[in-house]
Amino acid sequence: MVVIVGVRQIRTVLDDGEFFCPECGGDRRYQYGVGRRWFMLAGLPMFPVSKALGSVKCAVCRIDFARAVLVVPTARRLTGLLREATRSLAAAALVAGGESSPAARAAAVAAVRDTGLGAYTDTVLDADLRAYDPDDDPDDSLDALADHLAPEGCARLVAVAARIAVADGPYRTLELDMLLTAGNRLGLTRPEIDRVLDEAAGHMPL
Ligand SMILES: [Zn+2]
Repeated sequence: MVVIVGVRQIRTVLDDGEFFCPECGGDRRYQYGVGRRWFMLAGLPMFPVSKALGSVKCAVCRIDFARAVLVVPTARRLTGLLREATRSLAAAALVAGGESSPAARAAAVAAVRDTGLGAYTDTVLDADLRAYDPDDDPDDSLDALADHLAPEGCARLVAVAARIAVADGPYRTLELDMLLTAGNRLGLTRPEIDRVLDEAAGHMPL
């Protein structure tokens, strides 16, 4: 009788979900599991011959990653955060000055629409402004973005708010305060923020 012996990898799936796969460069399903190599005898696992190793496996490219890969937000989540942050910055910029200026309001609506929210209108902006309370921080989108967005992306976000602020004329003190706070929360340095504000002011209508 021939008894077949060998070593085989056995993987137990513990969890699944969606993640941003660095290999595929997109949002993919994953399975998190623990794999271990076993000594096999006649098709039966007898004893482990390696340590148990946890990994996140992409459902598309089948590559295994360390669990830390799950910390990176999915593209869908990042898009949502950018939209939330832009919407909240647009409201903050208007509340700081220019709430009744058609040019500033149009700039705010355009900025939010640019994030893919095509249905955003002046009426929705009105509702956002009524709901806006500077003392009540409704979302942590800026903090979350600061952790995951490149400095260029953070600067771009401040630039969007700055252009809304200058759409109706030079920066007011309250607008500058608001932009500095946003820039700080996004992890930008003071010179970086100043550069963004100067550049946005260059787009100011004469
Ligand atoms: Zn992949």
